[in-house]
Amino acid sequence: MNPKVYSSEDFESKYTYSGDLGFFWSPEKTFFRLWAPTATEAKLRLYKTGDSAAEDLIEEIDMTADVSGTWVAEKNGDLNGVYYTFSTVVEGKESAEVPDPYARALGTNGKRSMVVDLSSTNPKGWENDKGVFYDKNITDAILYELHVRDLSMDESSGIFNKGKFLGVSETGTKTPGGISTGLDHIKELGVTHIHFLPSFDYGSVDESKPEENQFNWGYDPMNFNIPEGSYSTAPEKGEVRISEMKKMVQKLHENGIGVVMDMVYNHVFHADEFCVNVLVPGYFSRIDENGVYSDGSGCGNDTASERSMVKKYIVDSVKYWADEYHIDGFRFDLSGLLDIATMNEITEAVHPTHPNVIFYCEGWNMQTKVTKPIVELANQYNSEKMPGCSFFSDTIRDFLIGTAFDAEEKGFITGKELHGSLLGKCFRGMPDWCKNPSKCVNYVSCHDGYTLFDRISVALPKADFSEKIRRSNLAAAVYMLSQGVPLFLAGEEMLRSKTKPDGSFEHNSYKSPDSVNSIKWSNLEKPEYKKVFEYYKGLISFRKAHGALRMKTPGEVYSHVTDVRTGEINVPAFHIWGNVNGETAEAIFIAFNAETEEKEIYLPVGKWSVRIFDETAGTEHLFFAEEKIKIPALSAAVMIK
Ligand code: CA
Repeated sequence: MNPKVYSSEDFESKYTYSGDLGFFWSPEKTFFRLWAPTATEAKLRLYKTGDSAAEDLIEEIDMTADVSGTWVAEKNGDLNGVYYTFSTVVEGKESAEVPDPYARALGTNGKRSMVVDLSSTNPKGWENDKGVFYDKNITDAILYELHVRDLSMDESSGIFNKGKFLGVSETGTKTPGGISTGLDHIKELGVTHIHFLPSFDYGSVDESKPEENQFNWGYDPMNFNIPEGSYSTAPEKGEVRISEMKKMVQKLHENGIGVVMDMVYNHVFHADEFCVNVLVPGYFSRIDENGVYSDGSGCGNDTASERSMVKKYIVDSVKYWADEYHIDGFRFDLSGLLDIATMNEITEAVHPTHPNVIFYCEGWNMQTKVTKPIVELANQYNSEKMPGCSFFSDTIRDFLIGTAFDAEEKGFITGKELHGSLLGKCFRGMPDWCKNPSKCVNYVSCHDGYTLFDRISVALPKADFSEKIRRSNLAAAVYMLSQGVPLFLAGEEMLRSKTKPDGSFEHNSYKSPDSVNSIKWSNLEKPEYKKVFEYYKGLISFRKAHGALRMKTPGEVYSHVTDVRTGEINVPAFHIWGNVNGETAEAIFIAFNAETEEKEIYLPVGKWSVRIFDETAGTEHLFFAEEKIKIPALSAAVMIK
């Protein structure tokens, strides 16, 4: 069948099913519903185990055609823990067996789905867990981007459950020298949310070989609605990864920390093998009549989110994570390949029951071959059309360190002379593509590209260690004190480096070993690293203490932020004043000295209490300044009155 048909009005009006799909368990019977409108037959197979190589078929059941292209089957008895697959016959050809697209549990490596009594996977007290971040604006968030393995794999983490969800929720863990690691460290740092790299089931790590210590970021989706098996202590037991992830979420919530999941709906691991595409050939992906996939993602295929049942699938998936796992936020990988209507349906579906949930997108402008005549893509330039979503700002990142495409290019913190009003725009959370600080996610490092410290080392190979620290701290001060939503790569607060055995730096560590990727906690035992951690902690506490740094609307920012001319090109400064967003200080003055020497600047009138100065940051009064201040080389100075 020509896949163009799937995007026709006729097909969509006949075959859009709005009810629930998947399995419906009760102790007496389980009912199954599969959407497969082009099939002439559909089969359900029940198995004893989740091992796709095991010959342990319990029963093969022919499904019955039902409304809107769906197929149904029912089986008496308690099927909790029974594994199953679907297959279809389309145009006379029987498909491979695949897991249920609406699977809630899986066997090892996600080839068979499992019927599960989800209530049995809930940790004790789960009914009282309701997530965090109620009555807040997204600009109150401070986001910490973390890979599950990176937190615990280094020996110095002192964490027992290395590489697992359970390792994230361990407390009381320390380096050999007695410095707090893992969750205790994150809590002390003060971030509001941990944003996890893909933690749903992905395909690039063989879950049956945990001893091989394989690492992958996980941007290769297999099954969107189940936790990744390699982060579980028993991937072969379908219920274990569910209960372990819930335990982690619960523990983070108990510590006041929200959980954001990085969801990769824009492509799948192998399009030809993805369950939806097997059961309804080519339906999930943008594929032409010759079988060629659109590949704007660079991962081999792009998701056809504009099709009604793909859209429903994505909306259902996000809602499920919020409902079942109490997830507090979602980051959408390459949302520029998805469509605006889908993004809006997601936020509209989730917010009524989960007003605390935040949504933000990696909204680069992408090229993709959409399957309908008019499809508006969910990129950053369309941010105003998606009221519930915020977007990564590559503008502030590139401003601070230079473009991602040329590692040696310099930015503001690595010695590029400041020109124009770009900093002013970024500082206001309103770079050219974004007109609202609540929609602007500010960052300088994430999993992609070099770590901040490595980027500085690459750009300035001759700089000594202390100079690099000052530049790193300056970068943090700029994005942490700007309007918008700060995000940083876990470990940036301790000069994280992805150093290869030959001493060079890895800029694309998606499958590098743990030795490159893991957070090296023992560094915190060294005073220089500990001091950087304290500086980040201080920036965060200062941000949290001042509503004027977290304004919600463009109107507030226009009314309360002014540029201050310091007479020094590379010492930009800002004056934030007046009663806004709960701010109790009369005014805040912020200056960034990007010069390699001390600079003296004039201050706005008044007696200023300096809170952030040189290599110290926090909410405590350090000293008073009036009329003038000398700002040390490569540092921020922040004061209030
Ligand atoms: Ca997996």
